[in-house]
Amino acid sequence: MQTVAFHTLGCKLNFSETSSIARQLEREGLSKVEFDAVSDVYVINTCSVTDNADKECRMLVRQIQRRAPEAAIVIMGCYAQLKPHDIAAIEGVDLVLGAAEKFNLATHLKALQKNEGAKVFSCDIDTVDEFHSAYSYGDRTRSFLKVQDGCDYNCSFCTIPLARGASRSDTVANVVAKAHEIVAMGVKEVVLTGVNLGDFKYVENGQSVDFYDLIKALDEVEGIARYRISSIEPNLLTPAIIDFVANSKRFMPHFHIPLQSGNNKLLRLMRRRYQRELYADRVAAIKAAMPHACIGVDVIVGFPGETAADFQITFDFLHELPISYLHVFTYSERPNTHAITLPDIVPMAERKARNQRLRELSIKKQVHFKEQFIGQSRAVLFETAGKEGLIEGFTDNYIKISAPFQENLVNQLILTVIN
Ligand code: SF4
Repeated sequence: MQTVAFHTLGCKLNFSETSSIARQLEREGLSKVEFDAVSDVYVINTCSVTDNADKECRMLVRQIQRRAPEAAIVIMGCYAQLKPHDIAAIEGVDLVLGAAEKFNLATHLKALQKNEGAKVFSCDIDTVDEFHSAYSYGDRTRSFLKVQDGCDYNCSFCTIPLARGASRSDTVANVVAKAHEIVAMGVKEVVLTGVNLGDFKYVENGQSVDFYDLIKALDEVEGIARYRISSIEPNLLTPAIIDFVANSKRFMPHFHIPLQSGNNKLLRLMRRRYQRELYADRVAAIKAAMPHACIGVDVIVGFPGETAADFQITFDFLHELPISYLHVFTYSERPNTHAITLPDIVPMAERKARNQRLRELSIKKQVHFKEQFIGQSRAVLFETAGKEGLIEGFTDNYIKISAPFQENLVNQLILTVIN
């Protein structure tokens, strides 16, 4: 095997892990090629959140078989942990690696023989307790740095704890070391990522260490211009963290905070660990400390038991909050979740209609947010060539900016007038 190609589905965490595993294989002598090229090995890193994870996986395997019938096909990631034998039954698949084995890909490839039937290396998720650090490099200007994995929460709609296991964290020392590695590669912006990022914690010499300690240490790393906190649960976003970000050298005024519903009845059914009042308090605290801060919100519509009146309460709550954009998800039934046993199912057409209303609200919020900064100069980290000869980048408070492409703008922080 000389060449390897990767395709990643899902979240920033998956991208950070694919990128680190690819660097491992390159150190073993394999060359990384594009996914649409002919390769000796193809690796698909799957996601379990989307409700058509299996369809996507099957479609990619068929594509590979048409392009390179002799190639070895490896499936790993969250869907592979949840449904290893379903995936092994897909014609063409040679290797299925669960949550604990994906980091041993190099070893498994050495033993792999094509056409010997799919080999499955997976285990009970409750036995998965090792933390593997990872960060992405090369496919974007920003680097996704994994600092935490797994989750101890049990939100009633979620399969992630079943796919990634219990919450576990890297150490501050190791994360800081990774940040220095990333600086040495010329990366200016690091996005901290995990499954339940704010739950970063461990005990060292009898001392408990948490997310606040981590961001304090990272803020001292010379060479990193910007950090973003990819997503943080509202109950874990403490006033101390908000205050720290407001006064920090490198943490951006940008918070992505999953809400899921603006209705306390639904938050209880979802087994979320807060009521909407706490969420509103966090938003108010952020805006008090950083009026220019960008706040992104995850919200699920059409959850069992959500009446039209319940949804209107969520809509009005979001309409009133000074937030900047929404990521809207239509509730979809996931096997082995508590939510699948709940009564009062919302018809799919109604779920989609509610999704549409919140997407329209999100557009209004984005326009209103950007309007506040028209004419102001803010630092933009220009990334790579965008569409139609443009280059794109984001301001500190996550406003997307594009400008005519110039090579010397790539990966540069430029003070730019917002228009
Ligand atoms: S916090 Fe809830 S939604 Fe998020 S990963 Fe954990 S169980 Fe899933």
